[in-house]
Amino acid sequence: MSHHEIIDPAFAQFVLSNAPVKQLATGFDWVEGPVWFGDAGCLLFSDIPNDRILRWTPDVGISVYRAPSNYANGHTRDREGRLVSCEHGTRRVTRTELDGTLTVIADTFDGKRLNSPNDVVVKSDGTIWFTDPHYGIMTNYEGFASEQELPCRVYRIDPATGTMDVMVDDMKCPNGLAFSPDESRLYVADTGRMFTEDDQHIRVYDCASGGATSNGRLFHKIEPGLADGIRVDTDGNLWSSAGDGVHCIAPDGHLMGKVLVPELVSNICFGGRAKHELYITATTSLYRVTLNRSGVQRP
Ligand code: MG
Repeated sequence: MSHHEIIDPAFAQFVLSNAPVKQLATGFDWVEGPVWFGDAGCLLFSDIPNDRILRWTPDVGISVYRAPSNYANGHTRDREGRLVSCEHGTRRVTRTELDGTLTVIADTFDGKRLNSPNDVVVKSDGTIWFTDPHYGIMTNYEGFASEQELPCRVYRIDPATGTMDVMVDDMKCPNGLAFSPDESRLYVADTGRMFTEDDQHIRVYDCASGGATSNGRLFHKIEPGLADGIRVDTDGNLWSSAGDGVHCIAPDGHLMGKVLVPELVSNICFGGRAKHELYITATTSLYRVTLNRSGVQRP
């Protein structure tokens, strides 16, 4: 049985018919936040309910990178290659310095606590962009049940100055986010559909060189399921988690095809020698599929 569903014929060139959707490891509860460390030859990802960040190393397998992890969720790397993490339990974004110590990047706005930072990207200018929905404080499953103090937004923080700005405030529950290859566009997934049927979309914003976002509009409606984590390949195609696997969406917003995954996908990232491998966190397991495409990977 094919692991791919081709909708636009061009998608046939993106996938390899003899490349499996391979389960690399399983036995977790709700995995999220994959981030590739080519220099260390490993992938890090979060097992959120078990309060740990795991490391997958080829030919070695799984080991614990950090536990407890403060219920960490999404991760990325900054321009110097340092790990930047969203933490539900401490309601903050942190950076792991090269000596292993943690630096708090953001934990409040206007004197109020953040909700539960979910996913994060770093722009080429070094600014850190993250989403702050309330999923991590709704129950005790992925953090600590608590009161919401701020709306669910996308923030940008300049680590050089500490300046923090609201970049998106017209979404219900912003979740995964990604820039187009030239950073002229910001894509943000909304998982508000958990509460209303309408909000399962990915929105796109024009992003000026100075960083200002404008002209927010619908980019694509995921069906079935929800878009959670999203990534962009070097051609500008958006790869998104969805209810039946990973969907590939062209820059004009049309669905090109799917990689079918047997568990509910939370997030994805490109990795491997040529960033041609798509690592997929899906409920209890980590999967990988090799593509005939390469991801935008910063740095
Ligand atoms: Mg997420």
